[in-house]
Amino acid sequence: MRKVFNFSAGPAVLPEEVLAQAAAEMLDWHGSGQSVMEMSHRGKEYMSIHEQAESDLRRLMGIPAGYKVLFLQGGATLQFAMVPANLMRGKAGADYVDTGEWSRKAIKEAKLFGAVNVVASSEDRRFTYVPPQSAWKTSRDAAYLHYCANETIGGVEFGWVPDAGDVPLVADISSTFLSRPLDVSKFGLLYGGAQKNIGPAGLTIVIVREDLLGHTPKGTPTMLDYKVQADADSMLNTPPTYAVYIAGLVFQWLERQGGVAGIEKRNIEKAQLLYDYLDGTQFYRNPVERADRSRMNVPFTLRDAALDEPFLKGAKERGMIQLKGHRSVGGMRASIYNAMPIEGVRALVDYMREFERQHG
Ligand SMILES: *Cc1c(COP(=O)(O)O)cnc(C)c1O
Repeated sequence: MRKVFNFSAGPAVLPEEVLAQAAAEMLDWHGSGQSVMEMSHRGKEYMSIHEQAESDLRRLMGIPAGYKVLFLQGGATLQFAMVPANLMRGKAGADYVDTGEWSRKAIKEAKLFGAVNVVASSEDRRFTYVPPQSAWKTSRDAAYLHYCANETIGGVEFGWVPDAGDVPLVADISSTFLSRPLDVSKFGLLYGGAQKNIGPAGLTIVIVREDLLGHTPKGTPTMLDYKVQADADSMLNTPPTYAVYIAGLVFQWLERQGGVAGIEKRNIEKAQLLYDYLDGTQFYRNPVERADRSRMNVPFTLRDAALDEPFLKGAKERGMIQLKGHRSVGGMRASIYNAMPIEGVRALVDYMREFERQHG
């Protein structure tokens, strides 16, 4: 067992088994005499790693035929631009739901490419809930409808998939990727950076319905065109080979956990443990509407902000790191992604209880 529980929001904890396997294969991958880092991305060894990772992801998520899986770079942040660059398709504008910081970043970038219609916002209550779809002012001729499935900073998660009708539905799933089952066929496009729930930073995964490819306006840079990337099997240039390899090991690990349904059960159990404790005390507080609470990122404040530093210090002494909340929210944030064992959450709750006894 490792000595710390890492509650970082990203780059984040990875399964210990995966790290051990990567270490064992570091100098000589499967008798090839090379590290994966040193391989030609066009050689048969790396190609087999790449193809295996894609087919494992397809099986885990149940990605139907008719969808491309792209292994790109530039993070989810580059997708804030690539989505409108590829999907505006000459339409008047796109619809966006605003549920917090990451939604806003996506909205800001999309405005560089066309009109953005913010169909609903939870800003009125400081981004602590998901506006119900009945209150959204969507447009029937929107190029697409975009939402952030899990606001990593605010700790607000969609427990449901919006109904976009005939308009392509697009979601940023950076921090909820593979944490719960998702019906891919309801989406035009899904994207996310790997460093929250899948692997190391440097890999961005895009899942896109094929009919949405090939509509970029003239002048779109080649690297930013999904169709060109899809036609090149994500090898238009050198892909992030080592990150794809680690992601592939994580996919195999996930399979051993019972796939996405299996990991979802554990994620529910972990989140419940923490939220149940938070709800039973006045000392700590999570401001998010119960139905919209994130299973992955749990922000909470202490009754007195002057206790933040002692809390963090005590946590670190007990081997619990990266609990400091995002600078825009303050307080604490515990990110409890797929790879966080339940023992980590138990240790956190035990410590919170002890700290409350001492300072409450
Ligand atoms: C982390 C995160 C991003 C930004 O990801 P980068 O890979 O750093 O560009 C975007 N959206 C969400 C929901 C995130 O959690």
